Amino acid sequence: MDELTALVTDYVMRQGACAAGVATLETLVGGPPSADITYVLPEAKSAVSFAVPLEQEHIRPFLSKKDFQSHEQDNVLKNALSSGIGLHLSDFLEQRGYPSVPLAANLRYRTDTPRGMRDLMPPISLRYLAVRSGVGFFGLSGNVLTKKEGAGIILGGVVTAAELTPTDPIAEEENYCDGCKLCMASCPSGLMDPEEKAEITLGNRTFSYSRRKGYVRCEYVCGGFAGLHSSGKWSTWSPARFPIPEKDEDFREVFRPAAKAYWKRPEGGGGFYHPLMKTRIWQTCGNCQIVCHPDKEERKARYELLTRSGVVVENPDGSREAVSPEEAVARIEAMAPDRRALYEMP
Ligand code: SF4
Ligand code: SF4
Repeated sequence: MDELTALVTDYVMRQGACAAGVATLETLVGGPPSADITYVLPEAKSAVSFAVPLEQEHIRPFLSKKDFQSHEQDNVLKNALSSGIGLHLSDFLEQRGYPSVPLAANLRYRTDTPRGMRDLMPPISLRYLAVRSGVGFFGLSGNVLTKKEGAGIILGGVVTAAELTPTDPIAEEENYCDGCKLCMASCPSGLMDPEEKAEITLGNRTFSYSRRKGYVRCEYVCGGFAGLHSSGKWSTWSPARFPIPEKDEDFREVFRPAAKAYWKRPEGGGGFYHPLMKTRIWQTCGNCQIVCHPDKEERKARYELLTRSGVVVENPDGSREAVSPEEAVARIEAMAPDRRALYEMP
């Protein structure tokens, strides 16, 4: 099986992955429910994990609010590439006699949880496969970081009945995360707890990252329902300035009006489809991911670009532009009440 393990690793690398590894039933044992690979394939024995790199050149223009579509399109295409590699490898293994299931890179959710798809729980956590197999390591953000591309990756995977040979996690001393917290400082939603850590055990290894508060926070902000940072000085690519509550339990109250406004806003260029949304959605954030680079100077420069990028406003044709915080306020105040209600709480 060492030979087949080498083959599947080479397979995904030749199709565009930048890192690959293998986790098995044994190396994932004791993990959270989404580390259970038999959920998608009862006879599963192993999972191939891999990462596809995002184009680094699109990240600075996205963070500095110069160009949002290039990074968004790259993100959409790399998700398709990652899912496609998984499908190809799964078909390949199936035809070699090993039942296999490809894992979608994103936008595939379990339907058997208490709130169904709205819980946004993936069939299998690609992050758990990636850290246990040595594709990357957990940063404080909880994102998976790779040595060369940092967090600028899209993960993929295949679950298979083939008994592959597991690969080791990356050694702790090779994890470049130095706890700089720029991921947290770049997040208007407050998803990551700055003090508390969460721990998970996969096989005989324990991994930790910052405790995540309610995922509704990221759903609300990264989903584009709100985007203004609490300082009022910068925003995500969302033009909405609905309140971002302090407490998880207060999100329910703001989500409904923010969503109603979202669906009435003019639709500009770009965007992609999400199974839970009535309209296209747009890549408005992902800051915690794309600010994080192995080079600390680059990380700091990205954070500076973000926090000096201004506040996004939307034009009547749906196009978005970043202006100074003061001009953003002036533009909102000059809107007729009906239009203004598309962007902030009436
Ligand atoms: S931004 Fe800093 S603290 Fe956050 S994951 Fe990256 S290196 Fe770690
Ligand atoms: S994607 Fe945006 S809102 Fe979600 S956790 Fe990251 S920085 Fe925060």
